[in-house]
Parts: sequence; structure tokens; C-alpha cells
Amino acid sequence: MAIKQEELEHVNQELDGLMAILSHDLRSPIQTLQAYGKLLREKVYAQIDNDSKHFIDRIQHTAYHMSTLLSDLLSLSKVNKIKNPYEEFHVNDLIVSVRESVESDFNRFNVELIVRDTMPVIYSDRVKLREVFLNLINNAIKYSSKIPNQHPVIEIGYTQKDNYHEFYVKDNGIGIEPKFHDKIFELFVRLHSRTEYDGTGAGLNITRKIMNSLNGKIWVASEIGQGATFYFTVPVLKKD
Ligand code: ADP
Repeated sequence: MAIKQEELEHVNQELDGLMAILSHDLRSPIQTLQAYGKLLREKVYAQIDNDSKHFIDRIQHTAYHMSTLLSDLLSLSKVNKIKNPYEEFHVNDLIVSVRESVESDFNRFNVELIVRDTMPVIYSDRVKLREVFLNLINNAIKYSSKIPNQHPVIEIGYTQKDNYHEFYVKDNGIGIEPKFHDKIFELFVRLHSRTEYDGTGAGLNITRKIMNSLNGKIWVASEIGQGATFYFTVPVLKKD
């Protein structure tokens, strides 16, 4: 039996509510874990053997990972609830602001950013689009920063289509096999272990949810070892 759209929306709302409660209620025990982990490290780390040091590292790392997972869950549950006012803004300003917030990673990995085309002024949800650029740029850095003898090069481009704006964020990283191009947008899907690349596997799912909420689309073009290009579109809207 087909589920009615209304029922689906209701179930989704319930799930979002549940995620918000869970991520809120779990925050406090995790903070306690983090605090005791820190105290333990300060008090005994210098005097214990390597195995015990490793156990403290694992506790702290796991607590950190859980707190990141919770923030991701909270962001996911908020995507459809939060509707920021639409505003007119220059996409170039948005890119500059995102670049500033990842300044330390840019310096650490010697990232080169190329803004290929003249960016447009658009009318949209600036806050959500900032999140999209931020997620894609963070991934672009992460998945291109461990390749020997090259530094990450990120290119941002733009094409004005008939009734939508099309942007892309391209990197020179490890690339993604075509059979995973849809899969990576699912929640908690990751193609690598956390020891290879840290992360929760929620970023692209959040990004796709944001794009859906803006009536836009997102997809990837990539081959393994050839870098990845993430394209996304937003409708052309006029401020009235
Ligand atoms: P996370 O980066 O936390 O694992 P994401 O949802 O952002 O989660 O990405 C899902 C998976 O997609 C990643 O684990 C990685 O395997 C792959 N991926 C995302 N962006 C890139 C990229 N720019 N280059 C290569 N692989 C990527």
C-alpha cells in the first residue's frame, strides 16, 4: 500500500523531533565523559604505560566522535524546520566568508582556491547555502590533503542556466567510484574507516537535505583517483 504524502511528512516530522530530543539529551552525559577523560589525562597520563595511554586516547576520541554525531543529528533535524528569510547576496561574498572560516585548514594543508567564473548575485537562503559551500569545501580539503607530492586545489565554478543557477566545487583528491555516486548522499554512508579519514558520514546527507529544501539538486561527477566535482543548483528567484 502506498504511503500518502501527508503520512510521510508526519513520520518525518516525528523522526526529526526524536532526533532533536536524542541529540539534546545525550549531550550532557557525553560532556561528562569528556570532562572526566580530560581530568584523567591531566592527572595520570605522564605516569602510566602506553596501553593505558591508548585507552584514555580512545575514550576521549570516542566521546569527541559522539559529540560530532550529535551535532550532525541536530543539524539534520533542523534542516526542514528552519526557514531563514530569503535575501539577495553576492555569492562571491559567501565564498570569501566560508574561506575565512576554514583559514586554518587552508594554511595547514597549503590549499589553493580558484574561483573560476564571475559569481552571481542571487536571491536565496544565504545561511543554508553557506552551509552547503562549507560542507563541500571541507570535504574537498579532507579528501585531497593526504595525497603525496601535491597540495589541494579547489575550484569553484558557476553557470547561469535558463531558470536555475548551477555551481560546482571541484577538488584534486582521491575521487569516488561511480557506483557510489548516489550512495554517498545517504545518512552515515562512508567509504573509508575513521582512522583513514575522520568523519561521521552525515555531511553530504545534510547537504542534500538542504538542497531539497531549497528546491535545488546536488550530484557528483568523479572517477577514482581523478578528484571529485560536486554540482548543485538553486532556482533563479527574483526579490519582489
Ligand atoms: P564524511 O566526510 O563525514 O565521511 P560525508 O557525508 O561528507 O561524510 O561524505 C560521505 C562519503 O563520501 C565520505 O566518507 C567519502 O567517502 C565520500 N566523499 C565525500 N566528499 C568527497 C570528496 N570530495 N572526495 C572523495 N570522496 C568524498
